[in-house]
Amino acid sequence: MEFLDLTAYTYSESMLPMRAVGWLGREHGVQGGAGMPLTGAELRLLKAASSRARRLMLGFHPCEFCGAVEGNGEFGYYLPGGVVHTAPTMIVHYAEQHGYRPPAALLSHLSEATRPQWDRRAELLCSVLADASADLGWRVDAAVDLALWTDRRAYDTLRSALRDEELVDVAGNELGRSLTAFAGQPYATDLGADGEHPLVRFGIERASTVDYREFVRPVSAEG
Ligand SMILES: [Zn+2]
Repeated sequence: MEFLDLTAYTYSESMLPMRAVGWLGREHGVQGGAGMPLTGAELRLLKAASSRARRLMLGFHPCEFCGAVEGNGEFGYYLPGGVVHTAPTMIVHYAEQHGYRPPAALLSHLSEATRPQWDRRAELLCSVLADASADLGWRVDAAVDLALWTDRRAYDTLRSALRDEELVDVAGNELGRSLTAFAGQPYATDLGADGEHPLVRFGIERASTVDYREFVRPVSAEG
């Protein structure tokens, strides 16, 4: 799937309107002015803002430029002013290996995107996660993205979601990972209890070791 940067994202239905960033392919090539690659500092910012992927059920897509790696899932960037950008997890590979420069609209707000302000987007994610009748894929996405807001409302909603057996069976590890983002907060004293579902515990235990590389692998990899 290929989109011009900052056009409307239409790959799959989403809870919020989003703009596409980093959906590179052969038709438009490496957008964003290859020849002006990211500086080391910019690349570190991009990686810091690209730590959790959602929509992992959509499958792997190979890099159309080198064919050496393939990526699964998408990163969401919650920018100031209510804008959401979404990129394939390959965005880091494109920036590192192919000189891709994401648009300034994203680059200049990456640090804010790692800790967005509480707003209607966060409220919507909470209501979707808490709604047992909502689309299961959206609920999993909400469980991943809510970890961005260090806010008690997000924590309480994630905590309550642990009582939803269907959701925990599918996404217990994502719920566990998200909960660890609140470690150290005064209200998050009940983290990592022994009684948690094994998947939730797995997510809690592995949370600190996860980064973007988990979602990008060599094409020759098994499985
Ligand atoms: Zn490549």
